[in-house]
Formats: sequence, structure tokens, C-alpha cells
Amino acid sequence: MAGVQASSGQVDFHPSENQLMISQMIKDFGAREMRPKMMEWDESQEFPIDLFHKLGELGLMGVLVPEEYGGAGFGYHEYVTAIAELSRIDGSIGLSMAAHNSLCTGHILSFASEEQKRKYLPKLATGEWIGAWGLTEPNTGSDAGNMKTTAVRDGDHYILNGAKNFITHGRSGNVAVVIARTGVPGDSRGMTSFIIEKGTKGFASGRKENKLGMRASETTELIFTDCRVHKSQMMGSEGEGFVQALKVLDGGRISIAALGLGIAQGAFDAALKYSKERHQFNQPISAFQGISFKLADMATNIEAAKLLVYRAADLKNKGLSVSKESAMAKLFASEVAVKVADDAVQIFGGYGYTKDYPVEKFYRDAKLCTIGEGTSEIQKLVISRSILK
Ligand SMILES: Cc1cc2nc3c(=O)[nH]c(=O)nc-3n(C[C@H](O)[C@H](O)[C@H](O)COP(=O)(O)OP(=O)(O)OC[C@H]3O[C@@H](n4cnc5c(N)ncnc54)[C@H](O)[C@@H]3O)c2cc1C
Repeated sequence: MAGVQASSGQVDFHPSENQLMISQMIKDFGAREMRPKMMEWDESQEFPIDLFHKLGELGLMGVLVPEEYGGAGFGYHEYVTAIAELSRIDGSIGLSMAAHNSLCTGHILSFASEEQKRKYLPKLATGEWIGAWGLTEPNTGSDAGNMKTTAVRDGDHYILNGAKNFITHGRSGNVAVVIARTGVPGDSRGMTSFIIEKGTKGFASGRKENKLGMRASETTELIFTDCRVHKSQMMGSEGEGFVQALKVLDGGRISIAALGLGIAQGAFDAALKYSKERHQFNQPISAFQGISFKLADMATNIEAAKLLVYRAADLKNKGLSVSKESAMAKLFASEVAVKVADDAVQIFGGYGYTKDYPVEKFYRDAKLCTIGEGTSEIQKLVISRSILK
């Protein structure tokens, strides 16, 4: 789904060569590696880890990582195009790719020391390692600043105790960025981020969630029991973790917006095709205004979502503040994904309610977009605070 780009202050609605190349590459890859197996992954909730190693070979596990650290060295336009194209086929793969790139890898890229970057980015950017990012806890989701997981200083180490939940790649991830409390509850400067490798004593994964959708994207608990982490694994200074996390989420929300955009486009593609093939009352159902107007609304909303997503991507590329714009893009594209997937099932009638056609999966997967990386209500909070200040 190559789309809008901008250069020299001019908006260019034509995709760049790189965006077209990425779109075609993912279409080919998806036909070969994803479409034949994705319903099996969905049924069994299998996280297809080998697929992510292959995505790494294509440069899609380090899209934004500079080439000197083993990444593809692209910007947000290419990144959005990649996530949207993957999600147009399978939202689970888009979600995992987004979480790996934006959250774990993105946090290290933005806030790690040079030594930490050299140690971790090449492995993450090539897909040799899978990354996880732990902010959410069982009792603090939207209210993440009130987290209970603690990191207590003990000489050159920190001792972590507590639990994170709903963590993408919590079990298969080779490394996790974890934000824990080092100060007093309620203090936004009282949290610190750490890079913690799988196998560190006292660090384990817990229950794997059995989910409505996004079933091939692994979601688990992370559990810390007297987990000793050397201070060299801290990112930035003590107390900076929560502010870092909010900045990571500003970029991450563009990726969830792209995920919603891709799911909406995938559901629309399927509904459009079916509406021309399915006949009732001796005519294709697309000839009924009730169906063609639905398709018109779906197409219009997808185009509007695309503009918001690529605008946020453009601002991010320019290094400008994107809190409001990424929240707007995420809010709108997520809600469009849910509505378009709903309309697509309706256009398929009874067949849309079965697993013989792709729209029931888009319908289930779409809902995550209005929840992950901040619910729609939290996006409205971010937007309203920004426009009221
Ligand atoms: C598949 C999946 C993958 C995820 N991956 C990760 C991950 O990799 N890392 C990670 O850290 N987290 C991850 N999450 C967690 C996700 O970010 C949280 O689920 C989300 O932020 C919402 O938190 P919550 O589930 O605790 O809901 P709650 O915060 O309990 O919200 C419940 C309801 O209350 C509403 N609400 C809460 N506060 C307000 C308010 N101030 N105003 C109005 N309404 C409000 C919410 O909008 C929602 O409707 C993932 C979640 C899922 C489902």
C-alpha cells in the first residue's frame, strides 16, 4: 500500500520507487510465505518465528535502523508502506513486525548508548533476534505511569520484581526492553528502562493469552523475581524511562495506524471482489445501491486514513513533534479498520461469517488496533490535551 510522500515541503501523492519496491516485494513474499499458512497459524495460535527471520533477510526487521547497525536505513514512509502491505495480508504479522521495529528496536535506536546500539541493533535489525517491549502491567494499562514493577538499586545492579502483561513476543523474544519503577509511585520521572536478555536469572515468561484476533502474534506475561540486571543495561539515566516510553509510543502509534490501514484495505479488497462475483436477484450484489454505497464509504474512509497516516509519517521523518498527529492517525485508522472489516463481513453475508473467506479474520484482527499502544479513548485524551493547551 504505497501512498503519500512529501519532499521539499511539497506533498507528493505518488509512491516513491522504494515504496513501490517494498509493496511488490511484500506481495510476492506474502503469496509465497504467508497466504498458504496463515489460517493454520491463526487456528493454532502459532507464532511463526521462522517467518520473522525471513522478514529480517528482506530488511523488514530493521526498517528504520541505519545501515551502519545492519538495518535497511529507510524512513517512516517506507516503514508505513511495509506494515500496511503485510497487514493487508495478515494483521498478526503486521502487529509483530510493528512491535519489534517500533517498540523494542525503536527504543534502543532512540535511547541506548553507542555501545548498547552496537551490541543489540545488528541482531534485531537482521531478524536474528526478536524483540519485546514491556510497559503494560496487569493493573496498569492506560495508567502505565502507576506501574508496580520495581527496580531497586543494589551496588552496580538493579533488582527487578513484578510482572508485565500483554507483551508481544514475551516468550519468543531474545531480548526485552522493560520499564520499571525506580522512584516513588505517581512520579513520571520515577521509572527507568532496561535491556534484559532472555535467560537472565529471575526473568521468565508467563501465561500466553488466548486471543480473539492477532492470534499468530504471541502475547504473554513477563515475570521478574529478584532479577539482577547490571546498571550497564539501563538506557539513558535513572528516571528517564517513562518519558522515553511516551516518545517511543508517539512513533509506535504510526505503526498501529498503518496496521489498521492495511487491515482495512485487505478487507475492502476482498469485499469489492466478492461484490462483483456474488449474484442475487439475477445481478451482482454490487449493483445494489445498499452495497455500492457501502463500498464507496469504505474506500473514502481508507483514503482519509491513508492521508493521516502518511502525514504523521512525514512529520516523524522531519524530526517534528508527532504526538497529536500520530494519535489522530491511530484513532482514525483503527476505527476505520473496525468499521470496514464489519462492512466487509456484511457484504459477504453468511459466507463472511465462515473461515472460508478472509473477512472474518480481518474482523477479529481489526479490533486490536483500537486497543494496543493506547486505546481510542487514550488517543482522544492525547489529542484533546494538545488542542486545548
Ligand atoms: C494483542 C496485544 C498486544 C499488546 N502488546 C503490548 C506490548 O508489546 N507491550 C506493552 O507494554 N503492552 C502491550 N499491550 C497492552 C496494551 O497497550 C494495553 O492493553 C492498552 O494500553 C490498554 O490497557 P488495558 O488493557 O489495561 O486497559 P485499561 O487501561 O484497563 O482500559 C479499560 C477501558 O477503560 C478506558 N480508559 C482507561 N483510562 C481512561 C481514561 N483516562 N479516559 C477514558 N477512558 C479510559 C480504556 O480506553 C478502555 O476502554 C498489548 C495488548 C494487546 C491486546
